[in-house]
Amino acid sequence: MASEDESALRQRMAEVMRAMDARGLNRGTSGNVSARCGEAMLVTPSGIPASRLTAEHMVLVQPDGATAAAALKPSSEWRMHQGILDRRPDVGAVVHCHSRHATILACANKPIPAVHYMVAVGGGASVPVAPYTTFGSEELAAAVVDTLDGRYAALMANHGQIVAAPNLDYALAIAEEVEEQAAVYWGTLAIGGPTLLADDEMIRILQRFKSYGQRG
Ligand SMILES: [Zn+2]
Repeated sequence: MASEDESALRQRMAEVMRAMDARGLNRGTSGNVSARCGEAMLVTPSGIPASRLTAEHMVLVQPDGATAAAALKPSSEWRMHQGILDRRPDVGAVVHCHSRHATILACANKPIPAVHYMVAVGGGASVPVAPYTTFGSEELAAAVVDTLDGRYAALMANHGQIVAAPNLDYALAIAEEVEEQAAVYWGTLAIGGPTLLADDEMIRILQRFKSYGQRG
């Protein structure tokens, strides 16, 4: 996080946004990404599709919300990003998207249970659902952090999914896996429901994933 310089972070944010588009996690201008940059935060701008995003478009937002006069308008969800980074010192990047299956479950208020061991990539035995609050609000940041309770990933009721992770690459990988596990769970619901993994097995898996996470 602090070890990566600002220009590298800007570049990687544009790449992550394009990757989300390419991998079907995002469409149009809906997703957004942020990264901790010293005391400040870099966040994607409002209203520019991923295919046109460049490193220069990323908006540096100071702790008091100030941006440079020449900067683009930050994502409408910037307060949520800043509120999460403020509350989670272990987190260096936040990835948010409205990927289809995660959003379907979020709109049905269904957390992803221990349907597959890869659910543990989100940092817990399930991916919980944060209660609904208007998009972009500071209240939404508080609701998300409370729901995360130290995890990396959550669904957001009637909205989408959010990942708060140590760095951009790890956050993107988790977001992609959350969408995959949402699709798997959704599929099992159509054929009679999943057989869940036992709690003690998920504890073992989480132990293994802790070392996986530190490599990120
Ligand atoms: Zn959103």
